[in-house]
Amino acid sequence: MVVAPAIAAIRNWKQQLKPGRRVALVPTMGALHDGHLALVRHAATLADEVVVSIFVNPTQFGPNEDLDKYPRTLEMDLKRCEEHGVSAVFAPSAAEMYPAPGKIRFHISELADHLCGKTRPGHFDGVIQVVNKLFNIIEPDIAIFGQKDYQQFQIIRQMCREFDHGVQLAMHPILRETDGLAMSSRNRYLNAGERERAPEIFAVLQRLAQRLSENPNTVDAIAEASQTLQNAGFKIDYISVVDAETLQPLQTASGNCVAAIAVYVGSTRLIDNILLSLPAPNIV
Ligand code: AMP
Repeated sequence: MVVAPAIAAIRNWKQQLKPGRRVALVPTMGALHDGHLALVRHAATLADEVVVSIFVNPTQFGPNEDLDKYPRTLEMDLKRCEEHGVSAVFAPSAAEMYPAPGKIRFHISELADHLCGKTRPGHFDGVIQVVNKLFNIIEPDIAIFGQKDYQQFQIIRQMCREFDHGVQLAMHPILRETDGLAMSSRNRYLNAGERERAPEIFAVLQRLAQRLSENPNTVDAIAEASQTLQNAGFKIDYISVVDAETLQPLQTASGNCVAAIAVYVGSTRLIDNILLSLPAPNIV
């Protein structure tokens, strides 16, 4: 397995591949868990070579977010990549990716107006900046992302459309712990009591989904979910039901939509979501 901290090194690795080898990219911020590795295994079924990028991208963190304390476990990550047959890991420093302060920022309209885009202003501008760079550096045939960051996936899809990236995209379902908690690098911030409470997020999402299948009015269903989570001691960032394509909030859930939650468990912010396929409204 090639470990490339430099842009030139990963480009060099790519250039030396036999013509026609299909390359899949799995972008990550490291602290790899089984959710990331499921993406890697899926990538291996879609391409001949799997590249994992490991980069805690500073431009997608807000000033009061956890950039400094974000877990960094490079040695262990490399071991896990090697065990999973990864061909190359691109693990640049911030100085390698951003040698000088940038003069161009992306701005995303509509798709970033709600959910994490609303409560983390500028977050997706940074995501698009770094994924754009990763696509240009590695030029993969396909890139694999997790449904866990559903809004991110839709925004990257739009970026590929608008900027003509010839990269195919795949979305992998959310991997969960046995008690339902979505796997996340941030779960390691949780103390024992918080970890015990955290599966309630998915339980509430499931109840929300069940309620919407019986009655598509989202307002009451969200209010109930909100009350349950508050009673269990969570601070709510958002609970929302949005259209799966436009990511705009829905009063009446119908067709393909996403129920999404972001909450604080202690000081740790966790996100989760469920995809819903509900009957379309009757058009008379
Ligand atoms: P991150 O390192 O958190 O930036 O995540 C890297 C990629 O892994 C993103 O595409 C995430 O959506 C995906 N991912 C993170 N957690 C999970 C999970 N529990 N199941 C599936 N994919 C995940």
